[in-house]
Amino acid sequence: MNPPTSILIIGAGIAGLAAARTLQDHGLTVEVCDKGRRAGGRHALRTSRSAPGMQWEHGAPAFEASDPRFLHLLQAWEAQGRVAAWLPDGVDRPLWVATPDAAALGDLLAAELNALHLQWEVERIERRDDAWWLHGAPGTRGPFEALVLNLPPAQASRLLHASGCAELKGLAIATEGVVMEPCWAAMLARSDGSHSAFDRLVPAAGPIALAVREAAKPGRGDLGCFTFHATAEFSKTHLEATKQDVACLLAPAVSRLLGTTVTADELMVHRWRYARAMSANPPPVAAHQPELALYLCGDWLSAEGGIEGAWLSGIAAAGRLLGDPPEGPPPPPPSGQQTLF
Ligand SMILES: Cc1cc2nc3c(=O)[nH]c(=O)nc-3n(C[C@H](O)[C@H](O)[C@H](O)COP(=O)(O)OP(=O)(O)OC[C@H]3O[C@@H](n4cnc5c(N)ncnc54)[C@H](O)[C@@H]3O)c2cc1C
Repeated sequence: MNPPTSILIIGAGIAGLAAARTLQDHGLTVEVCDKGRRAGGRHALRTSRSAPGMQWEHGAPAFEASDPRFLHLLQAWEAQGRVAAWLPDGVDRPLWVATPDAAALGDLLAAELNALHLQWEVERIERRDDAWWLHGAPGTRGPFEALVLNLPPAQASRLLHASGCAELKGLAIATEGVVMEPCWAAMLARSDGSHSAFDRLVPAAGPIALAVREAAKPGRGDLGCFTFHATAEFSKTHLEATKQDVACLLAPAVSRLLGTTVTADELMVHRWRYARAMSANPPPVAAHQPELALYLCGDWLSAEGGIEGAWLSGIAAAGRLLGDPPEGPPPPPPSGQQTLF
């Protein structure tokens, strides 16, 4: 079977970007779209409009790597100054961070993609005349010969159901078996510079699961930014609470960790409805339907989970789409294009 010539990837998270770069590096034409303003998905960065330079990595704060393929890539990027290893107190294996900030990883993977469409929210996908079409914020786009969905399972399921394509029901149902835990994140800036007692804390009790001093990560400036991730239990219990209520509930715990009074008004909070995958993954066979040229990828489809799992899932989806590799070496990248792998 010849590889498809037009491919759409919905979701520019780490998995979708890894799939896109792998496919593009094999000479295929890929378009990627995302409803967000920036690529990278949950490997996210929040900046302050009122205080330039202040920023919080309020999604994945850092990530682990153990797969030799991913480690190999990280080591190459480390040599180029794109990522750095971070060994805060209490951690026995280095964590990895993008440099100079979390957004840099999405930017790196997105650089030189054939086409990246940001602020395109897909509302519906349609299978018509042996091709895929999307409907949503950009209007109707298509035809695409193959479609890759890089979405958290609940969002993938909604699109699959809304497609009206009966063959996709099984795939939609498989996604429903996956549990994603939510996470409320709280962000604080303290410009007095006096509260640097910790780099990274994992409190044993209370509503906060993780506290990070942003400046403790390699290559960051020190503007007194802290990020706190609430426990899954707290986040589930208060999932539908208002931001103001969540800030009021978290402020005392933040104050205790910093050893100073922090008011709710000082906290900026963000709700991640689908932060991390917690349950068993569907069998790999559920992740694609080759006869419909439909492929799924994302952290929840890989045993590793997290950023590493997302990247592995993206290259796995690309591998399935490519099928048997063509004879001979892959075509060289267009001149001037960065080689990632
Ligand atoms: C608070 C928090 C803490 C975390 N901590 C860690 C950690 O310590 N270590 C670790 O490894 N990982 C951590 N993670 C998880 C890690 O961020 C994810 O596993 C990884 O980023 C998932 O990447 P992905 O590509 O699978 O999905 P995503 O990043 O979710 O990408 C999906 C993309 O799809 C887009 N999208 C959704 N719906 C639509 C639509 N209808 N139309 C168009 N686009 C759409 C979204 O905007 C998003 O960009 C954390 C995540 C959070 C939120």
